[in-house]
Amino acid sequence: MPATHYIGRFAPSPTGLLHIGSLLTALASYADAKAHGGRWLVRIEDLDPPREMAGAASHILRTLETFGFEWDGEVVYQSRRHALYREALGRLKAAGLAYPCYCSRKSWQNNAAAGVDGFVYNGRCGRAGFRPSENDSAKNPAWRLRVPDETIVFHDAVVGRCAQNPARDIGDFVLLRADGCWAYQLAVVADDAEQGITHIVRGQDLLVSTPRQIWLQRCLGYPAPHYAHLPLLTNRHGQKWSKQTLAPALDPAQRLPLLRQVMGYLNLPPAPDTQRPSELLAWAVEHWNLAEVGKTAVCTENDNPA
Ligand code: GLU
Repeated sequence: MPATHYIGRFAPSPTGLLHIGSLLTALASYADAKAHGGRWLVRIEDLDPPREMAGAASHILRTLETFGFEWDGEVVYQSRRHALYREALGRLKAAGLAYPCYCSRKSWQNNAAAGVDGFVYNGRCGRAGFRPSENDSAKNPAWRLRVPDETIVFHDAVVGRCAQNPARDIGDFVLLRADGCWAYQLAVVADDAEQGITHIVRGQDLLVSTPRQIWLQRCLGYPAPHYAHLPLLTNRHGQKWSKQTLAPALDPAQRLPLLRQVMGYLNLPPAPDTQRPSELLAWAVEHWNLAEVGKTAVCTENDNPA
């Protein structure tokens, strides 16, 4: 296979079935990859068994096929890649960048300041001279990454300039939870690097995570991918569609109007009549223009899909 300058991905978590917001992300990441002559990979992010829904992973893959998507290569499952995450954490530990944290959520959140994604961890267990109590050392620690007190700036192809100071806005963040589950931030960075992902196209709900991921890439010596964070699709209350907001699962019988609906949200021109989802996708690829994608959230309940 010739080396390509573009490798993109769609990385659903099998905590629920695909909904209209997932379809927008799948379509945009697919169209951007294919319009660049690139590869489009699918990765199932099944890292958190207690939150998963039985059968969701295979349902997601079947739904993608029904909607006309074809991915390149084998589907990757995060649940089978613990060795990769262990190796990354090992390097961070060896570099003195990761440290064990014995704090219970309740104890550290008590006096913590609010940040941009929950409370800011005060760094207690990472301070020079900190020694865990006997009681603490009996517990399994979480592992956290030290973050710099500097502004991380990046350019997003949809949103524009983005900036965050991880020390002020986030605090040292978790890589491995005390219950032994890998944190999303570490797994996604290790996977994107190992799979050679060059372009990340995903929802704006993850924009707040990107500076953490860029910092992790720097710590691990990985190249920085290009980012494009898509506008979120919301219900009539302005809430992002998700499992929590009871997003309806995609109905395969409605695949043509649903594809047309999300193509409209991405400001693609109306596609000609067809009964084939793959022809709608081909139209999206042919007419793809990331510069046309809006920055702000769209309420799907203002629409009456055909
Ligand atoms: N698994 C994440 C989700 O379903 C997406 C992760 C990513 O695209 O970086 O929201």
